Amino acid sequence: MSELGAFDRAHIWHPYTSMTDPLPVFEVESARGVRIYLRDGRELIDGMASWWCAIHGYNHPELNRAAEEQLGRMAHVMFGGLTHAPAVRLARSLIDMTPSALQHVFFADSGSVAVEVAIKMAIQFHAARAEQTGRPPAARLMTIRGGYHGDTFGAMSVCDPVNGMHERFAQVLPEQLFLDRPTARFGESFEASEIEAAETLMRRHRDEIAALILEPIVQGAGGMWFYSADYLREMAALCARYDILLIADEIATGFGRTGRMFACEHAGIVPDIMCLGKALTGGYMSLAATLTNERVALGVSADGGVLAHGPTFMANPLAAAVADESIRLLQASSWQQRVASIERQLGEELGRYSDHPSVSDVRVLGAIGVVECKEEIDVAEVQRRFVEAGVWLRPFGKLVYLMPPYIIEPEDLRRLTDAIALAL
Ligand code: PMP
Repeated sequence: MSELGAFDRAHIWHPYTSMTDPLPVFEVESARGVRIYLRDGRELIDGMASWWCAIHGYNHPELNRAAEEQLGRMAHVMFGGLTHAPAVRLARSLIDMTPSALQHVFFADSGSVAVEVAIKMAIQFHAARAEQTGRPPAARLMTIRGGYHGDTFGAMSVCDPVNGMHERFAQVLPEQLFLDRPTARFGESFEASEIEAAETLMRRHRDEIAALILEPIVQGAGGMWFYSADYLREMAALCARYDILLIADEIATGFGRTGRMFACEHAGIVPDIMCLGKALTGGYMSLAATLTNERVALGVSADGGVLAHGPTFMANPLAAAVADESIRLLQASSWQQRVASIERQLGEELGRYSDHPSVSDVRVLGAIGVVECKEEIDVAEVQRRFVEAGVWLRPFGKLVYLMPPYIIEPEDLRRLTDAIALAL
């Protein structure tokens, strides 16, 4: 082990690992396009886009230029009492590209924080309204099992109660309302009994529920499940009927990953609040945004109060400049064709695993491919085999999945889909 690797092993936590028995890590020297270069000279084809982020690939000249230009002006200034062109330009781009009702933007510093802000917006909206109506303020959240919304406490409270971290933090997490994960797959209609169950829960708790939060169409880290657009449409209609705000967590799905710019478009729905992150900066740095409509934005302050959030690095100019350039690049590219051709190729090449005795399901949507195994995967062992084969894929639980940068060429994608056999 190198000196760097030894120090890392002794002192630094990696995501969801212990200090006593961590999973091995590989030392990266640099990355370019869809290649990650390790310090020992090996080169890996990236199938993860660094957890949904690096949609244009690594070390992109245009994104580098945007960062360098902004760096020459300022890396950061506080957002309290100051504003700047990168933030305003980015807000304008986001308002233009999301549904037209979403006109107000809060810049957060990570996806989890964007979810916290969305939750605060919903709770403050209902609290301000309760002041006027004299009714008790609705402050609970409703969600569906199998979801993942981040690792902070509010976000954790709406993650799947079994595969999330509820057990560990049960004594401090607010108790939210859960519906079963929708069984109808993407492309299928909805299961009427599941919509009835949702309506029953909403009717029973209508005075308590501030918002329904969900990941539209694709549940990511909670199990990589692609569900029915009709189900999503019905849920949005129920929210409108019971006066419950709808929060769409598009942090993983946003910016083209599912074949639409935003996954809500598959169902033609417009949420009251939308969270964006991850691919927002093309994978360059941490930035997220929570958008909302006028009713919520004004409603939050109907009692004369303020939206109670304001992080130090809010609207960081460097991140905002890169994000705006990343959006420009995406819009100027033929991303729809690229995602569609990745989808086609994943369908063909992963499809051949569906009969494999260790595989329980194969699913593909947009530039996301999932092979679900019957047994838990030995991550350390499988990861080692992948690296030896020159690919970067990171399984979790029973899932091997890929979501490559959109710029990946068919031969590289082929090497990724071939490599999946090593996990089976
Ligand atoms: N929501 C969803 C749907 C996510 O996939 C993630 C990240 N995996 C988050 C929220 C949290 O984002 P972050 O890791 O940037 O805090």
